[in-house]
Amino acid sequence: MSTPSTPVRVRMAPSPTGSPHVGLVRTALFNYAFAKHAQLSGQGGTFVLRVEDTDKERSTEESYTSILELFRWLGLDWDEGVEVGGPYGPYRQSERSDLYRDVLERLRASSYTYDCYCRNDEVEARRKASGSKVMGYDGFCRDLTSEQVEAFRAEGREPLVRFRMPEGSISWDDLVRGEVTFETEFVPDFALCRANGDPLYTLTAPVDDATMRITHVLRGEDLLSSTPRQIALFDAMKEIGVAEVTPLYGHLPYVMGEGNKKLSKRDPQAHALAYRDQGFLPEGLLNYVALLGWSIAADRDVFDLEEMVEAFDIKDVNANPARFDLKKAEAINTAHMRRLPVEEIQHRALPFLKAAGVVGDPVRDADAQLLELAMPLVAERVNKLAEVPQMLGFLFVPEEEFTRDQADVEKLLDEEGRRVVQAAHDAVAALGTWSTAAIQEALQTTLVEELGLKPRVAFGPVRVAITGRRVSPPLFESMELLGRERSLARLASAL
Ligand code: GLU
Ligand code: ZN
Repeated sequence: MSTPSTPVRVRMAPSPTGSPHVGLVRTALFNYAFAKHAQLSGQGGTFVLRVEDTDKERSTEESYTSILELFRWLGLDWDEGVEVGGPYGPYRQSERSDLYRDVLERLRASSYTYDCYCRNDEVEARRKASGSKVMGYDGFCRDLTSEQVEAFRAEGREPLVRFRMPEGSISWDDLVRGEVTFETEFVPDFALCRANGDPLYTLTAPVDDATMRITHVLRGEDLLSSTPRQIALFDAMKEIGVAEVTPLYGHLPYVMGEGNKKLSKRDPQAHALAYRDQGFLPEGLLNYVALLGWSIAADRDVFDLEEMVEAFDIKDVNANPARFDLKKAEAINTAHMRRLPVEEIQHRALPFLKAAGVVGDPVRDADAQLLELAMPLVAERVNKLAEVPQMLGFLFVPEEEFTRDQADVEKLLDEEGRRVVQAAHDAVAALGTWSTAAIQEALQTTLVEELGLKPRVAFGPVRVAITGRRVSPPLFESMELLGRERSLARLASAL
């Protein structure tokens, strides 16, 4: 057990396989909040990022890079770990082989392990023959005689090292789930390495947790079944002097997607970087992900990372599965958009505007000036940053490239709509001053008062004519910014 005087150290231990999942964000966030909260209460609080890349076939550099990119975008800065360094490095498991080999040799010399010569097909055949319901290894090599070992060796077999699970049960006081107990008769002896000596996750993660002095392991419920093994291995590591204390474990609830199934890598909603690419704010995604198993207060959904850190207590995490709800995620993101000043939205939207080709890179002076004027019109209307170029594109696009949304045209620029646009054209063509107020007055008088149209019916077609879309910045301001000549040309071309 860790005492209050033991400085809190937690870790995030992603495997760099595939594109990072929102479940990874949730685990990272809860570890981060746990560490920073401990810091606030004077209990240390170090957030370690180590990369579990021992599986050479599945690990990729691309995945590694995207994980770091994700954490940096989210602002989940790690105190110690890959790229940052620290006293217990290196922090990539592929660079720690010597340590694992050393620990493996020491475990092999103890009674906690034994060499196993079985092939997988033999294990499976024995299981079928015995009708046992326990999946996995049956302990066949636990007590081989030296003659049996001789015989296997004579066949040219290389052994792998298996951990001998103790008899009885293994329990721990889970930080989220309370007391959890596994009967070890259902936990087969597990391999610590491959026959070629390459260490497996079963060995590397606990060895790293021990040697990196991790005090609390907070991770997804999918890893629950590995915990009794890791606790048993910790007992062995303590005896051979590799570990001092067993960490406390807390298992965060599953995240469920559509149809009450676990959110899987195949789910498009699962890909964390897709949220950045769609223009979610990191604040928005973090806030939403925080709600997957935790809440700050019964009547409160919107908060920032600092507030979460202050309030976070692992005991408040709900053990029941959490449901991923994209609509809610979007609503939370919108709430964070509304909290940002216009200049900040502009700053963050700039890469999206450039990527969409709305402005150049670098931004031309004229475009920068137009952006200053236009941004206040859309800042309060967009839910995600990627909507900014959609909303503003019509102002920046050269006239010959301007197009209208086909569906909006069909809906609003029918015969009736074109009649409205014609009237609008004639009303503003005669204006002396081209200003928002003058445009508004002219359109209001002509379309609403004289033609007797409802404002929605009156301005919808004009909006599509001018901006190309039904959803746009405010119409009169848009027309002022677009200028007389271009506005009249668009009204005319809509006919
Ligand atoms: N590398 C493991 C994974 O991908 C995490 C192990 C752990 O947190 O203990 O899921
Ligand atoms: Zn065996």
